[in-house]
Amino acid sequence: MGYIPFHKPHLPKTTISQIKRVLDSGWITTGPQTKKFEQEFQSLVQAKNCVAVSSCTAALHLSYLAVGLKVGDEVIVPSFTFCSAINAIIHTGATPVFCDIKEDTLCVDPEDVLKKITKSTKAIVVVHYAGMPADMDAINKIAKKYHLKVIEDAAHAFYATYRGKFIGESSNIVCFSFYATKNLTTAEGGMVVTSNEKVADLVRCLSFHGISKNAWKRYDKTGSWKYDVIIPGYKYNMTDIQAVIGIEQLKIAERSYKNKLKVVNLYKKHFAKNPTLILPIDPPFPQSRHAWHLFPIRITKKSKITRDVLIEELKKAEIGVSVHFIPNHQQKFYKKNFTEQKRLPVTEKVFKEIISLPLYEDLTTSEILRIANTINKLTQ
Ligand SMILES: *Cc1c(COP(=O)(O)O)cnc(C)c1O
Repeated sequence: MGYIPFHKPHLPKTTISQIKRVLDSGWITTGPQTKKFEQEFQSLVQAKNCVAVSSCTAALHLSYLAVGLKVGDEVIVPSFTFCSAINAIIHTGATPVFCDIKEDTLCVDPEDVLKKITKSTKAIVVVHYAGMPADMDAINKIAKKYHLKVIEDAAHAFYATYRGKFIGESSNIVCFSFYATKNLTTAEGGMVVTSNEKVADLVRCLSFHGISKNAWKRYDKTGSWKYDVIIPGYKYNMTDIQAVIGIEQLKIAERSYKNKLKVVNLYKKHFAKNPTLILPIDPPFPQSRHAWHLFPIRITKKSKITRDVLIEELKKAEIGVSVHFIPNHQQKFYKKNFTEQKRLPVTEKVFKEIISLPLYEDLTTSEILRIANTINKLTQ
C-alpha cells in the first residue's frame, strides 16, 4: 500500500542545475536571480511592483507596517486563517478583531466585516482560502466607504483569478507564500505585490534593515560601501538560491495547475454520491479561477464518524491529511488576551467538520481512488 503524504512538492529536474549555477557563481544571497524572479512573477500575475521576501509571514508584517499599523489601530481579519497573519498584527502593536467567514466560499464574510468596524479600524485582511478568491468587490466597497486599507493574504492563491484578473493584479497590497506546501514553492519565501510604488519602496527598504536603496549590492563590484539607515528595518530578504527554485516553478505553473485540477475533478467525481460530505465549490463569481491549493471537505452530522475519528482512521490507513485552520480566536494567547471577542458561529462550525485531503500534481489516480474509497467507506 504505502504511505500517501499530505503533500509532495514537484520540483522540475532543471532546478538542481540552476541551484548549482547560483552556488558556482559566487553570489548566493539576494542578487540578480531574485530580481529576475520578481520580474517574471510580476509579468505572470500582471502586478505593478513585486518585492521578494523570506516568507509570506514577513510579507504580511511588512505590508502591515507599510500601511502604518500601530498601537490603538484595529485590523479586521478572519479567525479562520494561519496564525502568522494574526501574530504579525500583534508585532505592529495593532489589535486583531476577528470576523466570520461565509459558509460557501469559506472566505471573509463582508457583512460581518461591516459589523466589526469601529472608529479605530484601520485595515481589513482578506484570505483567499484554499485558493478560492474572496468577494473582493464587496470588501473593496466597504474599504472605500470607511477609508480602510486592504491587505490580501494570497498564501493559497498563486494562479487564482478574480473577475478576469490574476490575484495580485488588484490595487490592494497582496502577499504570496512560497512555503514548501504552497502552489509555487521556493522552500521558504514570499512576495509583496502592490500597484503603489511608494509602498513597494518602503517594503523593500524595511525588508533589508531599513537601509538605503540597493544596499544589498554593497559587496558587488557595482555597489558602494556607503549605506544609510532610514528606518529600523528587518532581515526579510530572499536569497538567489530560493529565487532560482521559484523561476523554475513559474515555468511549470500552467501545467501544475492543470494537473491539480485533474486531481480535484477526480475527487469530485468519487465523492459525488456521498451525501455525508460537503465538497468545496467553484468560485461564485464570473471569470474567476480557484487556485486549488487545498481540497477541503466537510464531514457533516450525516456521517457515521466525526472529523476527529476520521483523521485517526486515515492515519491508520496511511493517508496524510491536515486541518486548515484551527481558528485563532480559540488559540490560547488570543483567547486569553482578546476576551471581548464575540463568537464566530460559521468559523466554529466549519472548523469541527473540515479536513484537507492530499492535493498535488504527482498524486496518482490509484492513490486518489484509495483516498476517496477509504473516506466513502468510513463516512457512510
Ligand atoms: C502558509 C500561510 C501563511 C504563511 O506563509 P509562510 O510563507 O509560511 O510565512 C500565511 N497565511 C496563510 C493563509 C497561509 O496558509
